[in-house]
Amino acid sequence: MAFRNFKMIGYVVYGRGSFDQLDEIIAPHRIAGAPMVFLVDHFFEGKPLASRVPVRGNDKLIFVDVSHEPKTSYVDSIAQDLKQTYGSISGVIGIGGGSAMDLAKAVSMMMTNPGSSADYQGWDLVKFAGVYKVGIPTLSGTGAEVSRTTVLSGPTRKLGMNSDFTPFDQIILDPALTANAPANQRFYTGMDCYIHCIESLNGTFLNEFSKSYGEKALQICKEVYVQKDHWDEDSDDKLMMASYAGGMSIAYSQVGVAHAVSYGLGYLLGTKHGIGNCIVFDKLEEFYPEGVKEFKLMVEKHKIDIPKNICAGLTDADFDKMIGVSLGMKPLWENALGKDWEKHMNADKLRKLYEQL
Ligand code: NAD
Ligand code: ZN
Repeated sequence: MAFRNFKMIGYVVYGRGSFDQLDEIIAPHRIAGAPMVFLVDHFFEGKPLASRVPVRGNDKLIFVDVSHEPKTSYVDSIAQDLKQTYGSISGVIGIGGGSAMDLAKAVSMMMTNPGSSADYQGWDLVKFAGVYKVGIPTLSGTGAEVSRTTVLSGPTRKLGMNSDFTPFDQIILDPALTANAPANQRFYTGMDCYIHCIESLNGTFLNEFSKSYGEKALQICKEVYVQKDHWDEDSDDKLMMASYAGGMSIAYSQVGVAHAVSYGLGYLLGTKHGIGNCIVFDKLEEFYPEGVKEFKLMVEKHKIDIPKNICAGLTDADFDKMIGVSLGMKPLWENALGKDWEKHMNADKLRKLYEQL
């Protein structure tokens, strides 16, 4: 058996206000004449954070549209424009939630790899290291800041560019950037972390490495969402580290049923990752009884809306498409249900599950 030798992020800064070190941190990575490119979540257009971005010389700040999760066509168009305008760039800095961070990772790699990002959806297909890249989360939960993937919807599939060239060279974890995120959004993204932990800790791929991070992340999630009775700065500080640890936990294991089913929703209906996971996880008592019980408690406590009946009115062809995408996520099912997972999950059973959502 070969043990996975996984690439981690380069440098990490953690701390409230650490965003203001960005200028100093990227300075040594500036190449004469080649700009730094800041891909900033469009939520921050006109907000104070935008004016704190250290734009110098011919640097470029682009507000990225994350109303939909990143598409390969969007990545390609940003990278093409940059190549046409500047030839080469010094680096890409992604500032925002998982979507903006994933865009930054993908654009970095597409500055140096030929063709379309769709050609690299899969495992270890990327050929050349991208340009210098930095991730700065403004929502906590996805673990995109530490992962070796960047999830993209392409012409034929929703799949990441999984590679050793994908992780950031630098991340800046400044919990102050997550303050004031709307409660529903903060919950959906935070639950991505909670669900990563439940899926990793209950999975067959679990080892002590994953467990040590997963248990810590889960404990933090419980502190902020179950034990505390209101949200405060301390909650933001903690959840940012839960996201990091949750991401580290799945780096050496895998996610499970909620993610596999949620990918189908994302592909067909465009349901976003965080909310999709919540919609699915709510119905997974059979697979994760304790986690689902606690999840329901957290939903109630934080007065969160979980959309219902999103699959009402879908055709057989629609269901088949979702089922196809979902059952295609073989490693996720194998992690969740074991090597003989096909004995426990099939198209009929999955259809019944989708019908409940
Ligand atoms: P997101 O990045 O999609 O953002 C959700 C919404 O929140 C957007 O409207 C955004 O503008 C807004 N927003 C961001 N920061 C905010 C703030 N501080 N205050 C108010 N609003 C803010 O949400 P997400 O849940 O962080 O990321 C989901 C994406 O991450 C999906 O595309 C998913 O595929 C991806 N993802 C990637 C990985 C990975 O390992 N690469 C893992 C999980 C999820
Ligand atoms: Zn996730």
